[in-house]
Amino acid sequence: MAATKTAESETPTFTVLAPATGAVVGEYPLMDADAVAEVAATARDARRGWADLGFDGRARVLGRFRRRLVDHQDLMVETMIAETGKTHEDAASDLLLVVGWLHHWARTAADLLADQPISTSSPFLVGRRNFIAYRPRGVVGVIGPWNVPLSLTVGDAIPALMAGNTVIIKPSEVTPASAVLAQKLFLESGGPEGVLNVVTGDGATTGTALVDNVDYVQFTGSVRTGKKIAKRCIDRMIGYSLELGGKDAMIVLADANLDRAANAAVQYGFFNTGQICMSAERVYVERSVHDEFVAKVVGKVKQLRQGAPAGPGSVDVTVMIHPPQRDIVEAHVRDAVRKGATVLTGGTSTTGPGHYYSPTVLTNVTHEMKCMTEETFGPTLPIMAVGSVEEAIELANDSPYGLTASVFTSDLARGEAVARRLEAGTVTVNDMMVHLSAGELPMGGHKSSGTGVRNGAEGIRKFCTQTVIQVPRMAPSNEPHWFPYTKTTTRILSGLSKVLYGRPDVSLNPLESRPVTAMKHWFDRLTADRNDR
Ligand code: NAD
Repeated sequence: MAATKTAESETPTFTVLAPATGAVVGEYPLMDADAVAEVAATARDARRGWADLGFDGRARVLGRFRRRLVDHQDLMVETMIAETGKTHEDAASDLLLVVGWLHHWARTAADLLADQPISTSSPFLVGRRNFIAYRPRGVVGVIGPWNVPLSLTVGDAIPALMAGNTVIIKPSEVTPASAVLAQKLFLESGGPEGVLNVVTGDGATTGTALVDNVDYVQFTGSVRTGKKIAKRCIDRMIGYSLELGGKDAMIVLADANLDRAANAAVQYGFFNTGQICMSAERVYVERSVHDEFVAKVVGKVKQLRQGAPAGPGSVDVTVMIHPPQRDIVEAHVRDAVRKGATVLTGGTSTTGPGHYYSPTVLTNVTHEMKCMTEETFGPTLPIMAVGSVEEAIELANDSPYGLTASVFTSDLARGEAVARRLEAGTVTVNDMMVHLSAGELPMGGHKSSGTGVRNGAEGIRKFCTQTVIQVPRMAPSNEPHWFPYTKTTTRILSGLSKVLYGRPDVSLNPLESRPVTAMKHWFDRLTADRNDR
């Protein structure tokens, strides 16, 4: 990122170039800590008004924003294409995700964040009403990566907004244009000032300043940056959710529909030119169908059309969005070939304009190679033959990552059984990636792939503080376990342990099995004892 400073008093800026054409996409302020703090102050001031709108009011504002995004989808898609060089179809699916999530959260937020009654078997809470109250945390920071610049910035802001927070987005310095345009459309649709904000700049200055000024951080990006952000959040004692990298395994069993499996491998290995956290990063195929599967995949990959996007339906695979990522792809393929892998198609780079890497299929790969163990994040598909389903599961789990995984088989019960044993946040049978379109389904990573989830009930509750509120139905002047302590009190407290939890079968706990009788018994005993004192 080349920064420019035109005069001493002016904010420095950085220029974003289109990865496919080299044309200038735009010039953006390189915001320093003071500039970020200023935006944060505006966002803090806007909290009260936004929270006071209530769920219905906020849903109405976000409904108008959704319609404005749809009305301007050509502009939005063109902007995404300009800054990423992705295909029309990949850009359109990013927009579709966001408007789908806007629809989802507007409908569901009020129910998910309604007071949540909790019943308890604690003898000390008999006669009390307990519930969890959710309240917005305040100002939420959303930091996003360069590969999906709308849904992983604006999209992740939606549940935070519906929960009543104001939001500051820091898009990647590689692809800030989509988030900046979306914020403009939000304001044009009548969104209040200060509610949805965007700060632009790099990670070290702007990103760090954002973490320092918000009440919660929603981060999507690399493991390396995720760890830095987590440490800083811990220093500030604020919450965070990390959606990080993946090395997603696809398992193809011998009984799979090989045409579907091969189509899925090509679709999800090369979607967004392989620059997607949930792409098929490595494939394990039962040996008896390996050659047939590989032949089908290679045939289809050779038909993929690669080039700069030139209108809908023009190409399938495009350019590397962030040129340094191509160095990683090249290094992984070189490392694999040096260690004995075979390149069946692809394996070449071309430059100018744009940094391209051809769709590549590798076989004879092993876990000694980076392409099977480290995130490649590019258009490569390494395929490995395995002797059994057990070996496939073991290899799939032999990874520091655990974002998503998939298994292809005609036996759905077997597919489900395999899915239960794979260490990943989402496992799909005979499918991949589409789960992200469902706001109802939590999506998060195990192991180094992150902590927390986007979507699902937790995907909005994380943007709230949770307060347990306990209200007694009656409040006598004194309670049986309060002062003064007597031997009888001690005897009864010890007796409770025996009566409630001392039996081999804890389901015989009288408070759970016969609550009314048990409650009366407990009250009667304690009241009688205290009257004796
Ligand atoms: P990155 O970690 O380099 O950058 C992500 C964002 O963090 C950028 O906006 C960057 O400016 C910012 N940043 C960098 N240093 C920072 C700091 N110290 N403090 C605050 N912010 C900082 O990631 P990237 O290269 O942009 O994205 C690619 C990675 O994202 C891949 O690993 C990919 O798997 C992952 N990813 C994960 C998901 C998911 O949902 N799990 C989705 C998409 C991408």
